[in-house]
Amino acid sequence: MSWEENVRKVVPYVPGEQPKIKNIIKLNTNENPYSPSPLVYKAFKETDLDDYRKYPDPTCSELVDSIAEYYGVKKENVFVGVGSDDVLSMAFLTFFNSDKPILFPDITYSFYDVWADLYRIPYKQIPLKDDFTIEPLDYYAENGGIVIANPNAPTGVKMPLSEIEDIIRSNKEVVVIIDEAYVDFGAESALPLINKYDNLLVVRTYSKSRSLAGLRIGYAFGCEKLIKYLLDSKFSFNSYTMNMPSLRLGAAAMKDKEYFEETVAKVVATREKFKISLKELGFEFADSATNFVFARHPQKSGKEIFEYLRANGIIVRRFDKPRIGEYLRISIGTDEEMDKLVSALKEFL
Ligand code: PMP
Repeated sequence: MSWEENVRKVVPYVPGEQPKIKNIIKLNTNENPYSPSPLVYKAFKETDLDDYRKYPDPTCSELVDSIAEYYGVKKENVFVGVGSDDVLSMAFLTFFNSDKPILFPDITYSFYDVWADLYRIPYKQIPLKDDFTIEPLDYYAENGGIVIANPNAPTGVKMPLSEIEDIIRSNKEVVVIIDEAYVDFGAESALPLINKYDNLLVVRTYSKSRSLAGLRIGYAFGCEKLIKYLLDSKFSFNSYTMNMPSLRLGAAAMKDKEYFEETVAKVVATREKFKISLKELGFEFADSATNFVFARHPQKSGKEIFEYLRANGIIVRRFDKPRIGEYLRISIGTDEEMDKLVSALKEFL
């Protein structure tokens, strides 16, 4: 017998490319085109490197307190992690421990099935409707837990909060995770429901709307008991998931409400303008409530457009998967970047 038979094998998630080439237009991983808040720069400059001799605060109190204050919840309702990937992974490990399958859509964040495989969680992927919306009735079946991204990725489609609430209410014996990575760009958050349903975990990130993908900060809201269980897992895994810069700079970013709202509004305005241009060029797409648009052209293959853009210094994302292979997921950049993209698409067509 070889040692390899005892290896925990998994087919990993493949993140979008982070190219080293300069002067490209990077619209492939839904980063924010605007810089982090000036308060983040200030906190960075005031950092004393000698502090790094010590371990960071394992309770992450500076960051947790800033998030609790911003959203008007108790610190006991907040969990933080190394990006929402870390928060979600910890939540899968903690809450999905049943023999029954967890449920999530067939087209959604492609890390969910990877974590389920990694942790040996049975799962069932439920087809989205043809218009990429979720059928709530599909989530009333017996299950070991539910995870739904709202708005969904890579489709960009949002679900009304009333439908989300119905799913949470109908599944009180399991934990329902709502992944709100993109919620700030146009969907209604389930956050107000955490006091009503103790089986609800709402997951957020600094990577998109707060312009800090590089710091890797994610967070989650839930009732005290749910958060306590997450902390038990975290402290059984790694006490110091969050490094000192993330704790400090993340807290600084959370204090700048005005800048946050201003940059989100700019991204949303660019998105709406971009939708009009895409329509004029004949692209088809479901209405996006995120900082990206998921579009296909009825006459051109997704692969062809992708490769043309890439050859012209514009990187978008394409998933070589059933149902969505012809689509491109295009992150919203600055107005200038989107204008260049539209010109390139015009030339191609
Ligand atoms: N959820 C969804 C739906 C996402 O698209 C992403 C971004 N890849 C994440 C979670 C994870 O983002 P992060 O780890 O940067 O917070």
